[in-house]
Amino acid sequence: MLIRVFGSIVLLCVTAVSLAANPTGALTDGHVHILSPELIKIWKGLGIPFSRPDEYYSDIDVILRNTAVRRIDLISMAHVFSSEDFGGFQNERELVEKENSFVAAARDKHPKKVRAFCSIDPLREYALAELERCRTQLKMDGIKLHHNASQVYLTVPEHLEKVKSVFEFAAENKMPILMHFDNSHRRFGKPDIDLLVGSILKELRSVELRIAHFGTSGGFSQRTRAFLNAFIEELDAEPGLRKHKITFDISAVALDKDSEGIRKLTDDEFAVLAKYIRRLGLKRIAFGTDYPLYTPAEYEAILRTRVGLSERELEILLKTK
Ligand SMILES: [Zn+2]
Repeated sequence: MLIRVFGSIVLLCVTAVSLAANPTGALTDGHVHILSPELIKIWKGLGIPFSRPDEYYSDIDVILRNTAVRRIDLISMAHVFSSEDFGGFQNERELVEKENSFVAAARDKHPKKVRAFCSIDPLREYALAELERCRTQLKMDGIKLHHNASQVYLTVPEHLEKVKSVFEFAAENKMPILMHFDNSHRRFGKPDIDLLVGSILKELRSVELRIAHFGTSGGFSQRTRAFLNAFIEELDAEPGLRKHKITFDISAVALDKDSEGIRKLTDDEFAVLAKYIRRLGLKRIAFGTDYPLYTPAEYEAILRTRVGLSERELEILLKTK
């Protein structure tokens, strides 16, 4: 099933509506993907359709022109190479390194506009070595985890230990983590949050954690709401969380178009989403688009017209981070 492997990136196969021409008010886009030509080739070889020319996905200049914000967080997709459904690669580690190096090189072209996030599968034995290479040699700025592609279950003690060491690495080196937490298991939610908070975050020194897509894998379903309810409860109840900067990345949540396996929101769901945005508080929400899914201008328009955020609210969401 593609959605399990690719997580949110499957959404890039959606033929996007025309690019909004008007500039966005957003200062930063915290969730932008870039793919190396090699990764695009592998994906195409698997029969995944790409609706746009390759440079739309792989050329940093084109990406900066399309996103048109002051700063972007460029997120590596290196985690896909170890994904089971990808078929397995003899030279997996080499491919992972090349992909992260490609993202770092894109950042090096525009160091003032781009922060680069190194992606690893935390369950691989080379995970920490690759993170260290990303930090020291590539000078990357953050870490991307994708618990769906890597099939991470915090309920499995060995997985929990490995994820914990990644968090310790992040805290020690002051690297923010962007985490796609949802592993697609039907019971994913509160038990996983309890483990993240109780066994990792509570005792950890300060870390910056951004939870991708409001906690699930895109869209705004009952599952997303249950996730947010459980997390909000923890934030209120656990003083050990106050030292951390925890935000929720809104990318791929307010979908106004269907994508494989993820349905666009109904009008009612857009209204409920607005309630959750206000309940979380705009300061706890990080703006991001999951480009190439949307550009910032397109996504801002959805937040304004479909979710119904006020100009004042948009201002806080788009400009305060
Ligand atoms: Zn993404």
